[in-house]
This record gives sequence, C-alpha cells and structure tokens, in this order.
Amino acid sequence: MATIFEKIIAGEIPATIVHKDDRVTAFRDISPQAPVHVLIVPNKPIPTVNDVTEADEAALGHMFIVARDIARREGIAENGFRLIINCNNHGGQVVFHLHMHLVGGAPLGRMLSGGTHG
Ligand code: 5GP
Repeated sequence: MATIFEKIIAGEIPATIVHKDDRVTAFRDISPQAPVHVLIVPNKPIPTVNDVTEADEAALGHMFIVARDIARREGIAENGFRLIINCNNHGGQVVFHLHMHLVGGAPLGRMLSGGTHG
C-alpha cells in the first residue's frame, strides 16, 4: 500500500512542495519541530535505510545537494541546521518511505535529549 509520501509525490494529496525533480521531492513537514522543517524524500519508495541498495546511491547523494540548496534558500545555511534520517522503531520512524528531515532556523540544542547514554 502506498505511503502518505508516495501520495504527496504523486500529487494525490496536498503538501507545500519546496523542490521537485526526477529523483527527489521536498515538502514542508505538517507538524514542524523547528522554524524550518522540510522533508527530503527520494521519489522511489525505499521503506527504510535498511532497504537501501547500491542502485540508490545517486538519488541518496542527490538528497544532500537538495538539502544544501534548500538550506541556502531558507536562509539557514550560515547559522547551521540538522539533517536527520530515522530508521525503524528505535529510530522513531513513523512513515516507511525513507526521508531526510532538514530542520533549522533556531538553535537546536544537543543532538539527542532524554537518553541515558550521555
Ligand atoms: P519520521 O518520524 O517517520 O522520521 O517522520 C515522519 C514525518 O512526517 C513527521 O515529522 C510528520 O510530521 C510528517 N508527516 C506525516 N504525515 C504527513 C503529511 O501528511 N504531510 C506532511 N507534509 N508531513 C507529514
């Protein structure tokens, strides 16, 4: 069954798209966790990082180029930002179509909070 992100990529449900090309689509997160929160998604529905293959290298590398350009455009490149890819249960993944969170626009604090490992 198609995930919500496949439907957004196909234009079947609305989203605020900030970038689209033949490999990658990027749109604003519906529940932003920072002033800028964009999801960068390969058009090919790869469920998790565990499912990545060598054939995906170009698309996954391209996600970083898109992240760089969006960060510049959003005016957060200089101050900095964070890229996050969650995987499965312990990673907190909710949508099983691999995606990169681009978050920034304010100090984001420590990388992880609430943990017991330092
Ligand atoms: P995950 O926890 O899987 O890494 O992140 C999934 C993200 O997708 C969450 O930040 C959530 O807010 C976002 N999200 C879930 N459903 C929708 C939707 O329908 N539209 C948009 N734009 N974002 C969504």
